[in-house]
Amino acid sequence: MTTAPVEEPWVLDHQLHLLAQIESRPGLPDAKGDRWMDRRTTGKVMAVCTCGLNTGLVDRGELPSIEQLAAEHPRA
Ligand SMILES: [Zn+2]
Repeated sequence: MTTAPVEEPWVLDHQLHLLAQIESRPGLPDAKGDRWMDRRTTGKVMAVCTCGLNTGLVDRGELPSIEQLAAEHPRA
C-alpha cells in the first residue's frame, strides 16, 4: 500500500531591496564641450520587500540595521 505524496506548504519568499535616492543634473561642459550627467545621493534611503515591508523614505541613519532587516528576511 502506497501513500500519496504530501505537498509541502507554500512559504513566502522575500525579495528585500535597499534603494538609495539619487538626483542628477547635466554637468558643465568639459574642455571638448562634452557634458556628462552628475549624480549624487541625497542621503535618503528606503527598504522594500514583496512581503509588504516598506520603511518609506528615511534618512540613511534611521534605516534599521542590515542585521535587523536580515533577521526579518531570512530568505533575502
Ligand atoms: Zn520580506
